[in-house]
Amino acid sequence: MSTAVVAGVEVDTRHWIGGERVASAGSFEDVSPLNGEVIAEISRGGQAEVDTAVAAAKAAFVGWSRTAPAERAAILHRIADGVEARLEDLAQVETLDNGSLLRSHRRGVMPRVAMNFRFFADHLLTLHHDDFDTRGHRNHVSWDPAGVTAIITPWNAPLMLATWRIAPALAAGNTVVAKPPEWAPLTASLLADIAAEAGLPPGVFNVVQGLGVEAGAPLSAHTDVRRISFTGSVPTAQKVGEAAAKNVTPVSFELGGKSPLLVFADADLDLAVDLAVEQFDNSGQVCLAAVRILVQDEIADAFREKFLAKAATVVQGDSREESTGIGPLVSKTHFDRVDGFVQRAKAAGANVLLGGEPNHELNAATGGFFYKPTVFADVDPTMEIVCHEVFGPVLTLQTFGTEQEGVAMANDTDYGLAATLITGSPERAERVSSQLSAGTVWINCFFVRDLSAPFGGNGRSGIGREGGTWSFDFYCDVKNSVFSPNGWATTKEAN
Ligand code: NAD
Repeated sequence: MSTAVVAGVEVDTRHWIGGERVASAGSFEDVSPLNGEVIAEISRGGQAEVDTAVAAAKAAFVGWSRTAPAERAAILHRIADGVEARLEDLAQVETLDNGSLLRSHRRGVMPRVAMNFRFFADHLLTLHHDDFDTRGHRNHVSWDPAGVTAIITPWNAPLMLATWRIAPALAAGNTVVAKPPEWAPLTASLLADIAAEAGLPPGVFNVVQGLGVEAGAPLSAHTDVRRISFTGSVPTAQKVGEAAAKNVTPVSFELGGKSPLLVFADADLDLAVDLAVEQFDNSGQVCLAAVRILVQDEIADAFREKFLAKAATVVQGDSREESTGIGPLVSKTHFDRVDGFVQRAKAAGANVLLGGEPNHELNAATGGFFYKPTVFADVDPTMEIVCHEVFGPVLTLQTFGTEQEGVAMANDTDYGLAATLITGSPERAERVSSQLSAGTVWINCFFVRDLSAPFGGNGRSGIGREGGTWSFDFYCDVKNSVFSPNGWATTKEAN
């Protein structure tokens, strides 16, 4: 079968290679976490499809890299137009595919997908470094497209995360082979349709569907790939990194996190509670989620009471309903993984303040993979539940005494993607933010993201930064050309 109808939208389930739909002999099942039903049979790509896609991208690079930047930017804006025109289709399909909230897709995520294309199209046209002089020689810096770019992405915000890389890679003049996540592969296929309608030449953007080990691994190891942007877990990054190292292919890694939410005694308590409850968004399947809540002793009891009362009001249910606050986990495999973390934490002596189990009632009624929002207290810093990324609706609550103790606890992690601090003191905000080890620090706010800001993580949260010019620095071979003042022909004939 070459198409599936998902939420009333026809989606091609084959690869998109060299401007054509290509089927594989085998397929894999795409299951909706809302009801456990198979919603599509997806072409199952491997080495052969990757080879064909990389060859198509390599061939298309010659023309695309030489296309005038303004023309490339115009096509990217037309892709953004196409995303906006099909916003409802994309939102409905993504919701059924990965279980995230429909209202978030409509109002935040899909508009941001369009914005990814518009922002990097516009930013491309402003890329500039002033020429500078070395003993009369003029230095000129340029951003040259690197070549075929592999983009491997996860399922928690599939189209948004993919386009945050696809857009700058294409804007820079690269060609792309994308490997979407097998648990939510559908919107990448719709994007291929949109890009083709927008006039993106064949081979410039390719999609190879498939499992990580079968399609992702050969793509990471391909000798004709010039850049790998990988977003996903640390264990997979280690494999991608090994494959990339053999070819000395530059990588950008956006990985996991175990971010802290530091609440100081001088904080606005209601704000702190609101931001803490926000960490259940997308069922906690957010790399940036501040899942370690650290509260200063003086307000620990008051915070705990208000936080638990508010967290208990979060409505879990069908992600298509406006009133739903949190939906299911993405798959049965992930559901079992999250439950494993929770059960081991209980066995290790952590105290369940909220949840601590699957939402049996909802799962029985729907066939979906719902897990109750969960909060643990009485945890110690060496416990698995405090140290390891769960990627589910599971938070830990700890307390600290002095500011220095709070900072030390916040930084006591292998990760360093983000940190959030809540305080009423501007001086403390400056002091503490400068001491936190994280790629992004939010002060009295959460998830405020600007596409021109650098984004990435410290430690095991990743390698490199993307966003604004940082994206072009990664997706390009930055070149310095040095022009001597000597040796210029002076006669008309020489010109
Ligand atoms: P994952 O590592 O299992 O998979 C990510 C992608 O890699 C998928 O497309 C998968 O098919 C592919 N893959 C799997 N094995 C591969 C291999 N051997 N070679 C090449 N590719 C392979 O991660 P996931 O479970 O899909 O996503 C969750 C993880 O992603 C979490 O750790 C989360 O924190 C992280 N994440 C990070 C960010 C960020 O920006 N830092 C954003 C979202 C998610």
